[in-house]
Amino acid sequence: LWITFEGGDGSGKTTQSALLSAWLGEQGRTVLHTREPGGSEVGQLIRDIVLHHRGDIAPRAEALLYAADRAHHVATVVRPALDRGDVVIQDRYLDSSVAYQGAGRVLDAGEVRDLSLWATEGALPALTVLLDLDPQIARHRLDADDKPFDRLEAEKAEFHERVRAAFLALAEAEPERFLVLDAAQPAEQLAATVRERVAALL
Ligand code: C5P
Ligand code: MG
Repeated sequence: LWITFEGGDGSGKTTQSALLSAWLGEQGRTVLHTREPGGSEVGQLIRDIVLHHRGDIAPRAEALLYAADRAHHVATVVRPALDRGDVVIQDRYLDSSVAYQGAGRVLDAGEVRDLSLWATEGALPALTVLLDLDPQIARHRLDADDKPFDRLEAEKAEFHERVRAAFLALAEAEPERFLVLDAAQPAEQLAATVRERVAALL
């Protein structure tokens, strides 16, 4: 079973994916909690490049770097775990590329998606939880938690609005894969809704 979490910066993906992983562990499942970019050793190097040079990487180069991270992550980490029968809980996957490199960097969404599907030989999760949140609220939240919000600082508000709209459009196009949640809800309430949906898949 493979579940991904998607959403803008500060929407709570890391918190929710950790809560779900802990719960699945309590249910006796072997869980791999991983992320993109940077879910492998090679991927960590790619993560350093894309995060330290954000804004000055040519958009197509950025798309290829995220796709390279994804290709290596799926081939060496995710697929082996799924083959062992582990549950894989992942913080960001290809929908993030369609939203950030596609809508954010204004590349063709279909091309960005096709690039990722080529990179991963078409691997798609059973469930994608989209944590939908107004980027303004996300910024206040990260600020209040004293977490860095450099991405929210680095890009204009319109960038994050385009990213949010792209995620919602993806969810609308694939309603059976997506669970869309209002991420302004308290974390424990969100976690309970996620658990309910995941329990039905176990
Ligand atoms: O989710 P996480 O905080 O690990 O993401 C790191 C940064 O990379 C975020 O600021 C996010 O906006 C950016 N990112 C991106 N394109 C992706 C995935 C993440 O620009 N495909
Ligand atoms: Mg995070």
